[in-house]
Amino acid sequence: MSYDLLVIGGGIHGAGIARDAAGRGLSVLLVEKDSLAAHTSSASSKLVHGGLRYLEYLHLRLVRESLLERERLLAIAPHLVERRRFVLPYRSRLRPAWAVRLGLFLYDWLGRRSTLGPSQGFRFASSPYGKPLQPKLRYGFAYTDCTVDDSRLVILNAKDAAERGGHVRVGHRFVRATRDGRNWRAEIRDEASGASRSVSARAIVNSAGPWVSEVLRGRLGAAGGRRIRLVKGSHIVIPRLYDGDHAYVFQHTDRRLVFVIPFLGEFTLVGTTDVPWPGDPGPATIDPAETEYLCEVVSHGFRQQVVPTDVRWSFAGIRALQDDGAVRASAVTRDWALDLDAPAGLAPVLTVVGGKLTTYRVLAEEALEKLEPHLGKLAPAWTGTAPLPGGNIAGGQFEALPPALGRLFPYLDDGECRRLARAYGTRAMRMLEGTKSRADLGESFGGGLTRLEVDYLRREEWARSTEDVLWRHSKAGLWAKPEEVQRLRSYLGR
Ligand SMILES: Cc1cc2nc3c(=O)[nH]c(=O)nc-3n(C[C@H](O)[C@H](O)[C@H](O)COP(=O)(O)OP(=O)(O)OC[C@H]3O[C@@H](n4cnc5c(N)ncnc54)[C@H](O)[C@@H]3O)c2cc1C
Repeated sequence: MSYDLLVIGGGIHGAGIARDAAGRGLSVLLVEKDSLAAHTSSASSKLVHGGLRYLEYLHLRLVRESLLERERLLAIAPHLVERRRFVLPYRSRLRPAWAVRLGLFLYDWLGRRSTLGPSQGFRFASSPYGKPLQPKLRYGFAYTDCTVDDSRLVILNAKDAAERGGHVRVGHRFVRATRDGRNWRAEIRDEASGASRSVSARAIVNSAGPWVSEVLRGRLGAAGGRRIRLVKGSHIVIPRLYDGDHAYVFQHTDRRLVFVIPFLGEFTLVGTTDVPWPGDPGPATIDPAETEYLCEVVSHGFRQQVVPTDVRWSFAGIRALQDDGAVRASAVTRDWALDLDAPAGLAPVLTVVGGKLTTYRVLAEEALEKLEPHLGKLAPAWTGTAPLPGGNIAGGQFEALPPALGRLFPYLDDGECRRLARAYGTRAMRMLEGTKSRADLGESFGGGLTRLEVDYLRREEWARSTEDVLWRHSKAGLWAKPEEVQRLRSYLGR
């Protein structure tokens, strides 16, 4: 097969670039060695945000761009992206109040065209936000940002890429490629069968996340390349700590910011850490020391004390950041770089370094701009306004969708309508089409998952394993009992 573009990596950057390229009429092949969002892109803090703390490093362009993207993602994926109030308790010994106020003023100003409200300061004694906190915390600030289902954002970008003609191959490893004049000859291996095939492409995008250097030097034979720094970040999920939809941002004694965010109704998500990752990238898990650190941050701020045995789930991911020489891992720039290697007369490869979930869309746009001189005149940029699958909700009013589902499928309860609307948006109607009663959904696998949904995930979203179904395409794993997981495993194996 021959393609215009071969995209390596089914994280947010690969999926976003494949979607953009397919929508401009390019023939695209996206290969992912594991599953969509199997690595960093399902292990984030799940924020679509400007990055308040980047102001400390005066990364104004990054913050401004991220705030613009926050608005765009809210518009194109109102089912996945949720507005949320963030409460920042003030600790005088860490940062002076004027610095926090100035930071928030700048944040509001940089996001001045936002539909989200401005920040404010207040005393906890007269605010419900103070109720769960330690009494020593007396003042705070609140601002608005967004949260997102990170792995579903990846999956829906890949889905849109496929619906626009792109080819998406999960469980397919990019083995190597060599230049043949203005084309690449690439070897792709099906990890399940071991079978390899050869494809040609006019350009390659290396969006292999933590593996970008390995792909560039080891598989594309490129010399040099930018220095990368790998930094692991971990999160814990504990039973819900407090009432309300708002999140907290704690400045810990080491000056790091740690987020405490309501998660799926019954839980609270806490993170992240920043731990240097030596050696080759691979599957990342949380260390006991990180769990203790995160429990300590929570116990420092909340009346309720949290210990490692409270942890219900944890996850960790590796950031591949540009090595800017910063001493602390948390201080390394989160900005992205797109490195084009295009010797005269030879096929180009573009490598994505760094970046954020929040800015994936604009990064994809910039990637295609960089490739345009090599691919010929492209159709104009289009992803800023086109909804992701299921995001075509009238007026972007997500709150109207769950009751609408309830009217169409009256056997679903409110919680089920909400969960399905959040995950699939208007596509939930397509999934449920023709069902008249609960019995039509088939057997249950726990966490609200039914056979109908599992079939949809397999048929429409490339889900293959129990891990995919329970932790990436859904979060039913938080509720599913061992015997339900076992039943799901045998169902998927059939
Ligand atoms: C702890 C943490 C918290 C974060 N929080 C936020 C946040 O709240 N908000 C935000 O905006 N950003 C956040 N980020 C940043 C964001 O998550 C990352 O920038 C983003 O997910 C990186 O996506 P990616 O596609 O580059 O990499 P990945 O998601 O890692 O995808 C790369 C993919 O390439 C595949 N691959 C590698 N080699 C090959 C090969 N040879 N063949 C085929 N496939 C291959 C891998 O299997 C992998 O799936 C966070 C990051 C971390 C680590």
